Amino acid sequence: MPHEVKAVVAREKKAPVSVETIIVPDPGPGEAVVAIQACGVCHTDLHYREGGINDDYPFLLGHEAAGIVEEVGAGVTGLEPGDFVILNWRAVCGQCRACNRGRPQYCFNTHNATQKMTLTDGTELSPALGIGAFAEKTLVAAGQCTKVDPAAGAAVAGLLGCGVMAGIGAAINTGGVTRGDSVAVFGCGGVGDAAIAGARLAGAEKIIAVDLSDRKLEWARDFGATHTVNSGSTDPIEAIRELTGGNGADVVIDAVGRPETYEQAFYARDLAGTVVLVGVPTPEMRIDLPLLDVFGRGGALKSSWYGDCLPSRDFPMLINLYLQGRLDLGRFVTEKVGLNDVEEAFAKMHRGDVLRSVVVF
Ligand SMILES: [Zn+2]
Ligand SMILES: [Zn+2]
Repeated sequence: MPHEVKAVVAREKKAPVSVETIIVPDPGPGEAVVAIQACGVCHTDLHYREGGINDDYPFLLGHEAAGIVEEVGAGVTGLEPGDFVILNWRAVCGQCRACNRGRPQYCFNTHNATQKMTLTDGTELSPALGIGAFAEKTLVAAGQCTKVDPAAGAAVAGLLGCGVMAGIGAAINTGGVTRGDSVAVFGCGGVGDAAIAGARLAGAEKIIAVDLSDRKLEWARDFGATHTVNSGSTDPIEAIRELTGGNGADVVIDAVGRPETYEQAFYARDLAGTVVLVGVPTPEMRIDLPLLDVFGRGGALKSSWYGDCLPSRDFPMLINLYLQGRLDLGRFVTEKVGLNDVEEAFAKMHRGDVLRSVVVF
């Protein structure tokens, strides 16, 4: 029997979201229906509402979620009703050239559920990032579900499904931060703070946080920044060089994704160091760097897509480190709100008042 549930829908460009009744079909082959317990409010949800991703309205928003598997479709193995799971954007295929070479974290042929969820009049919904979890229940591909220890609690666990994983992964997977490294992070919102937490987890000795907001720099300290630089009043390149014996940081992470911050990150890096771009640029942005500097300074310029994470490998590990008290995921949850509060949560996020508002069911 298809389920009728409440969900947050963006019906048209830039219009406030509304809570609607939607229809979630029974899971087909390879699919699962998940009863959502918590879902974080992310900039990407607002970006969908604003028409910044595409125009496939109506969108079913929400994508940083954890919950309990309710039903699985034919052919699903390794997942059953009652399992506590974190949802991810991308079920890996196991067959593409990346998967075949043993690098499923780069899978080039990821998939979501085949069936569509709809409004009660039959209008098909576009789920945000293939998830759509501001909903009492949602339909996903079974491979989008990763089982983790339920002791973590849903509000904390769900955040690993997107921004927090992107930040931690930018440091530990893409940046390869290791013991003794110096690390600088530009932009101290959810993703940047997660990169700071990841750098600390990996054993970085010096972690330099850069932002325009003193309040965000305070948050960064709470996550493990050893030094902070307000780039509104101080040249961040000079400051980072000064804090690293005149050399620059071993790994510099740009969690903003603007040409200005990228160029600063490029020159704030030590010779043979690594720049990681995890902030998401817009289509019109361009960079202009002397190619001789790209060559002469050596090292690596990398992009981090979803923190180069492999959910089946990274989610359970990070949840276990959280449960051991070694990764403070709870600090990302600024407030818990209801399904009717998403629009207000967007406003708070836009003002920079919160790291994450989390909708709990
Ligand atoms: Zn997100
Ligand atoms: Zn693949």
